Amino acid sequence: MQTYKKFQEHLTRELASIQSAGLYKRERIITSPQAVTIALQSGQQVLNFCANNYLGLSDSRELIAAARKAMESRGYGMSSVRFICGTQDLHKELEAVVAQFFGTEDAILYAACFDANGGVFEPLLDEQDAIISDALNHASIIDGVRLCKAVRYRYANADMQDLEAQLRAAQAQRFRLVVTDGVFSMDGNLAPLDKIHALAEKYGAMVMVDESHSAGVVGKTGRGATEEFNLRGKIEILTGTLGKAFGGAIGGFTTGKKEIIAMLRQRSRPYLFSNSLPPAVVGAGIYTFRYLSTSNVLQDKLHENTRYFIGQMQQAGFDVKPSQSAICAVMLYDAKLSQDMASRLLDEGIYVTGFYYPVVPKGQARIRIQISAAHEREQLDKCIRAFVKVGGELGVLKN
Ligand SMILES: *Cc1c(COP(=O)(O)O)cnc(C)c1O
Repeated sequence: MQTYKKFQEHLTRELASIQSAGLYKRERIITSPQAVTIALQSGQQVLNFCANNYLGLSDSRELIAAARKAMESRGYGMSSVRFICGTQDLHKELEAVVAQFFGTEDAILYAACFDANGGVFEPLLDEQDAIISDALNHASIIDGVRLCKAVRYRYANADMQDLEAQLRAAQAQRFRLVVTDGVFSMDGNLAPLDKIHALAEKYGAMVMVDESHSAGVVGKTGRGATEEFNLRGKIEILTGTLGKAFGGAIGGFTTGKKEIIAMLRQRSRPYLFSNSLPPAVVGAGIYTFRYLSTSNVLQDKLHENTRYFIGQMQQAGFDVKPSQSAICAVMLYDAKLSQDMASRLLDEGIYVTGFYYPVVPKGQARIRIQISAAHEREQLDKCIRAFVKVGGELGVLKN
């Protein structure tokens, strides 16, 4: 009792300090499905511009039907890990369609991409090897690298001179793996995969790309960063999530060279010691990848929406980060301004999030807008009008 009392005081103090620093995260409660128009518990109906619902599939009737059908035929839960008795025909089918979609040799499913990244490095590399990681890589990559004994090198975000310097420094190691996000989520910039691949060839390194924000979004048919750079089948390891463009439920995968996937099935701890994906998620996943392989309607609409929205925002005089994805970062620089602006936009019925230190560097506060194929033109226009109104009142427009 006494022990917990001390710990309780400690936590109470820490929580108070998070609050007084203005960094306390609060969750806004939604009472509708995830979609473009959502209902908040406050009773307000708002247009959603901050979900990873890039293809608008989160509330798709077709995905819900596919999930229901799989649940009816294969049950609710698996109650097992894959290698004991948790593999259904549907799991193998989803792995096959994921590999087909990305033009890779094989794929392995995880409960989340966080687990895919957490379980990819340690089984493949050891203290004789090197991991060379972009400084802005996702937290799950950083954690995964920490679990591995390989020597760590870090290069500045998308900085090819720095990557080359780190590759040179890593020449003494046995194997080298360069790892990067495909799209970086705070700026929306694309990793220069063509250059990364060329440097990796030159210095004898393999490459891993986390396609979480790029798959379904980037490339003419939404196959991700490898499509954009004509590198399909040439990257050793890709990871990705079912939690963003592909319906947004849950689940992750690693896909790439077949011997790598085979080794992960033997040794990857989040795969061996965590439950199988439920049939509903797997069934809807199969439907999604099949659908996106035969139709480009959603990918085209997303590209069109993104082009239109970013163009209009630039014309309106906003300071927008150059983006090669469906992410549009409106730079405000000041933390308080980013929060004030997001809150006034919500009053206008536009749901966006302001980001500031430590999520982005100090003095780099911004509002991040995420475009979806489900946004209609008049909804994009409503968002732009609200930004212009609020931005004008707050004096953030350039012209
Ligand atoms: C969202 C994200 C993840 C985590 O994916 P989950 O499936 O939600 O765990 C991993 N990496 C990147 C780059 C992401 O953006």
